[in-house]
Amino acid sequence: MADYIYSMEIRLTPDQLKGVSLIQDVARAAGMNLYLTGGAIRDIISGFTIRDLDFTVQGNPIKLQKELEKAGAHVAALEEDSRTIFLSLPGNARAEISMARTERFEKTGKPPIVSPATIHEDLRRRDFTVNAMALSLNEGSRGLLLDPFNGVADIEAKLIRILHNYSFLEDPSRMIRATRFAARFHWQIEERTQARYDAAKEGKYIDHILRSSIGHEIAALAHEDDPLQVAKNLEKEGWLDVLHPHWNTSKIDTNGLTQLMKTRQHMVDLGYTPDAGPAVMYFLTSRLSEKDVADLWKLIPRKDLVEAWRDIETHAKELAKRLTGKEAATPSRTWNLLSTARPEMILFLAVTAKQQAVEQKIKNFLTKWRQVQQRIPLPEMTELLITPQLPEYPKIARDVFMLLLDGKLRSRTETLKFLKPFAPPPPPPPPPPRRGRAAKAAPGAPAPAQPAKKGEAAVKGKGKAAVVAPPAAAPAAVAKAEAKGKSKPETKPAAQSKPAAVPQKAQPAQAAAKHSSKSVSKPVPKPPAKKAKTKKKR
Ligand code: ATP
Ligand code: MG
Repeated sequence: MADYIYSMEIRLTPDQLKGVSLIQDVARAAGMNLYLTGGAIRDIISGFTIRDLDFTVQGNPIKLQKELEKAGAHVAALEEDSRTIFLSLPGNARAEISMARTERFEKTGKPPIVSPATIHEDLRRRDFTVNAMALSLNEGSRGLLLDPFNGVADIEAKLIRILHNYSFLEDPSRMIRATRFAARFHWQIEERTQARYDAAKEGKYIDHILRSSIGHEIAALAHEDDPLQVAKNLEKEGWLDVLHPHWNTSKIDTNGLTQLMKTRQHMVDLGYTPDAGPAVMYFLTSRLSEKDVADLWKLIPRKDLVEAWRDIETHAKELAKRLTGKEAATPSRTWNLLSTARPEMILFLAVTAKQQAVEQKIKNFLTKWRQVQQRIPLPEMTELLITPQLPEYPKIARDVFMLLLDGKLRSRTETLKFLKPFAPPPPPPPPPPRRGRAAKAAPGAPAPAQPAKKGEAAVKGKGKAAVVAPPAAAPAAVAKAEAKGKSKPETKPAAQSKPAAVPQKAQPAQAAAKHSSKSVSKPVPKPPAKKAKTKKKR
């Protein structure tokens, strides 16, 4: 049987996983049964990007609001009629928790009558088989997958299938959803579903779409990996102008959007997790009038998305201004400024910057300056015992990187000259080997440590821990490292100190050994011969 908890743990991002525990703890404390549902399960199983976490509780999630906020979640919106709470979780993770419910559609075009229900009943009101699964996160049944419509089989078959014949009549927004999913995943709409879809389209069911559904569908575009393709498909089906009568693909800044998605991918590869949603919406609607855009804002349920989209230009201008001022007068200063800027703003400005200087600085930050880290002499630092175990390591690593960035250390020799004074004294020699009766008397005693041979210091013992962090590898890392260096000056014992707050770049031991022969190393002294002799006498 598939282990879905394991799949969940390996597929979610660290921020999403933390979000799962946060929500699980709050729901458990309130005695509510909790399930991961909908698209999150579909994407875990199918291997696609998991863009948001959909939870369902048996009970009213709005009651959890205070506890969720206490635990660090931000409530972005509440939907009273469906009892859904929309959350922003620490990091850039989004989630929604909805009440397990039944929906009774009594009149076309009117919202359904909602009643609390069990998770089994709730799955029956869903849109497609692939979205009608739930994973239990409850003690006792944790890891159990509820899949009453065999959604797993449809994922394998790459099919989008409605649960019953009235699906599109009850909720015509499902036609837009079907088009969006088909475009996103390149899956087929199952034959009978397609027939229902065509009939619903012909019957103009879409005229009865609820305003709230339009808002959801607009917002959903913000988080597509290929929003342009999805928008084109929506337009082809006639759905884009359902979302707004003036919206069509000619209103999209296609170049800007393409550039945005490329830069976003580049940033993701560098370890950033920018929320591209607001910028995607900006480009998707670039050529709509201000009034039309304001109409869209009114429809979107998540106000955090609306605010970020509305303010994006203003915030980008502020950052651009700082990038042309004193604060960014040198590469190192610019680096520091951008390391602490919101990744969303870097992303947006990378595409929209009007001044060449700003554009160039962002470009350098995302490309050229990162290569400077390769000039940090990691093996030699290891030999000098300047390793992440040193409490002052983050500051040293940062300083050397800043000086390299500013061209103040122009050669390897200059860099080593700068580094040498920071080398700590060599470790004390290991105790001499025990010989004679005393040693024999304790056969289980650990073998005495052998003194390191000249040049081996970097590889053995300390050297093992001397996997050095490149200070420039990750966003804000250098700034963090600096903060750490300042606030906690050399007080921690070396063994306890954490490595620099940057991803660790493993330096193969062999490479370190190879460089060690070029000897900037301080040889580890041999143990005093005298003591050994005394023992021998005994
Ligand atoms: P995405 O990856 O875009 O988030 P999703 O399937 O998770 O896709 P959401 O809008 O997050 O879509 O909705 C979560 C779940 O709620 C869906 O998977 C589906 O089970 C259910 N759902 C959403 N909209 C509808 C709808 N109009 N009719 C029925 N069920 C719906
Ligand atoms: Mg979802």
